[in-house]
Amino acid sequence: MTRNEFDLIRDYFARQPVKRRDVALGIGDDCALVEVPEGCQLVVTTDTLVEGTHFLPTASASDVAHKALASNLSDLAAMGAMPAWCSLALTLPEPDDAWVAGFCQGFTALAEHFQVQLIGGDTTRGPKSITITLHGHVPKGQALTRAGAKPGDWLFVTGTLGESQAGLDYILGKPVVDKARATTLINRHYRAQPRVTAGQALRGIASAAIDISDGLHADLTHILTASGVGAKVDVTQLPLSESLLAEVGDTEQAQKLALTSGEEYELCFTVPEMYRGMLDTTLKHSGVNVQCIGQITGNHRLELVADSQPLDWVLSGWDHFKEPRRDRS
Ligand code: ADP
Ligand code: MG
Repeated sequence: MTRNEFDLIRDYFARQPVKRRDVALGIGDDCALVEVPEGCQLVVTTDTLVEGTHFLPTASASDVAHKALASNLSDLAAMGAMPAWCSLALTLPEPDDAWVAGFCQGFTALAEHFQVQLIGGDTTRGPKSITITLHGHVPKGQALTRAGAKPGDWLFVTGTLGESQAGLDYILGKPVVDKARATTLINRHYRAQPRVTAGQALRGIASAAIDISDGLHADLTHILTASGVGAKVDVTQLPLSESLLAEVGDTEQAQKLALTSGEEYELCFTVPEMYRGMLDTTLKHSGVNVQCIGQITGNHRLELVADSQPLDWVLSGWDHFKEPRRDRS
């Protein structure tokens, strides 16, 4: 990019509405300088969105920005961390004022909500992609990880599941019958609310946690592998929204969607019996509902049951939109 084009884009990002006191030096120098609170560990995560792989060219810049930051915030939420600073590597095929303005709007709205300050980045020419590195902190030794679930622990998820995939189906061209419902589901795909407050509230209570980006079934498997345990999930307990049930019209189909839908950005976590009673009080201020969907077992398998009946469902994995229409049964 020429110097002028570059300056133009960088100027957009230099006007940072979030100004944190722990940022000693923000955008403009070779590096940023930040203060990590005493007694805390730095928590770092990176996510990349590539046009054509993670979002369609028709997606609004503002939605893409929200999704890029939300996926990083969700990773920090799953660690029980407090988000603080981020950097943004933006690759664009050409300077596009309108796109950058829209991106900034979506980015800033979410960054302000969680008081995340953009402290640097890079701007290059190439196929459109967005990489955000988000930093946060957590009191030393208190981060939630995937390893730590024990047999007997209860298994929970936040929010409702399945709508992200249902929204993506519309984005990929499914004919709209009910406009309001389609809008709700599409928003659920692009505009997930990362469970940052809930994640922090779960420190000291949850024995393991992960955010649902690849689908509950796949992400729960990560907890089981890291913890060396198994789980029994009662699909009748999966939290399904009215919109999803109305959309799918069949409870079993909705349950399968809840197990496989990715980019949900809800949390899946385990809680030892002794802390289970504290959960409601703990999460009261996070504004998030949680649902117990099963229990951790010692047998290294992920079993699905409906009430007590074993199920032999074969589930497809989440694959963004490479194979959007394959059979999910
Ligand atoms: P350098 O050559 O040292 O990498 P640049 O000219 O790339 O510096 O960037 C100048 C300043 O602008 C740096 O502080 C950098 O972090 C910031 N910056 C560049 N691109 C972005 C962006 N997309 N978002 C936020 N900050 C950016
Ligand atoms: Mg640079």
